[in-house]
Amino acid sequence: MIRYSGFVQTLTVRCTLKPALEQAEALEATVQLFMEGCNYALRVAKERGEFRRFRLHHLVYKDLRAMGLSANLAVQAIARVGRKKGSRAKFYQPTSVAYDQRTLSLRMADETVSLTTVKGRLRIPLKLGNYQRHLLRKAKSVQGGVLTKGPKGKWYIHLTLRVETPEPPGGGGRVVGVDLGQKALATLSAGHRFSGGRLKSVRLRYLQKRAEVRSKLDRPSERTRGLKRLWARLSGREARFVNSALHALTRRIVDLLEPGDILALEHLTGLRGRTSKRGRKGRHLHNLWPYGRLRFLLEYKARLKGVRVVYVDPRHTSRECPRCGHVSKVNRRSQALFRCEACGFQHNADWVASVNIARRALAQGAGSAGPGHGQLALVLGHRLKHLHLPAS
Ligand SMILES: [Zn+2]
Repeated sequence: MIRYSGFVQTLTVRCTLKPALEQAEALEATVQLFMEGCNYALRVAKERGEFRRFRLHHLVYKDLRAMGLSANLAVQAIARVGRKKGSRAKFYQPTSVAYDQRTLSLRMADETVSLTTVKGRLRIPLKLGNYQRHLLRKAKSVQGGVLTKGPKGKWYIHLTLRVETPEPPGGGGRVVGVDLGQKALATLSAGHRFSGGRLKSVRLRYLQKRAEVRSKLDRPSERTRGLKRLWARLSGREARFVNSALHALTRRIVDLLEPGDILALEHLTGLRGRTSKRGRKGRHLHNLWPYGRLRFLLEYKARLKGVRVVYVDPRHTSRECPRCGHVSKVNRRSQALFRCEACGFQHNADWVASVNIARRALAQGAGSAGPGHGQLALVLGHRLKHLHLPAS
């Protein structure tokens, strides 16, 4: 039997809990007791001037257990107080409790999580979306999690998962460069382009609406509770909208790839460098677009599919001619058009950037030039396939 070996990556996924009434009360009491434990440990640590974890453990562990904290939670409370020196909280608010493999377990058969609480071990239903379900099913193990209570009284568990990703088939896969932007959210050197389309107009609408509310919030006479709530609602709605768009986009990109392909991206520093000529609104949207998260989602979805991810130097990817190698600012005629001043090669500017990204990955020794990649295809001209991301 061949032992399966792949990469293992750790990631955190937030799931909403659906506790029954008495379960919610137990969670509440647990968080409350945990906080009291933390505050007790803090008080003792201050009185004795002893914040070293091991010493503090001897001073407070028995008392914490006597307060009703489980062994594990007592250790967690001591760890929280003894964690760092210097800046120290005056007291702790009941916000979160950390769980590990002994105090938390996941059961996918009925989609529940079992947690140790002050009322004993409770099995609490999870509310899962497809994304969470997919990840939890795929997880090799659950390392633990953090229980938190949201501002509206909702309970969440942030689960830490170890996910095994398939070993990419060896060597010479196809290299696909991806240029990430605003007008086109993503352009692939393989010839696909995802336009922002409705996504952009929806985000602009949120931007405008939020600006209105903010200007009202600035005037004390209008700063009503209703307005503050509207602000929070708008922020939450936009965040959810953006998040689902990020998932849809990265899913669509990865669907175009095959196991063994190599995905080439720019190092992060390059992404915000190209904003100089955008309008104020465009720049604002650009800065708000969470590129870090987009890249994170892209990378881990790619790896789950057996696609390796490599990063390349982002300098001048939009100014270099892929046919003759001439680098000039002038080559980029506009946001959309690339035309080489040396050899006259012209094409969509984002696509040129994505091809340069792929070429750099190849130059670094990643994979091989698949069909549609070499110079020939470039000279013959490559048709871009335009894809629209549904604004969900
Ligand atoms: Zn040229």
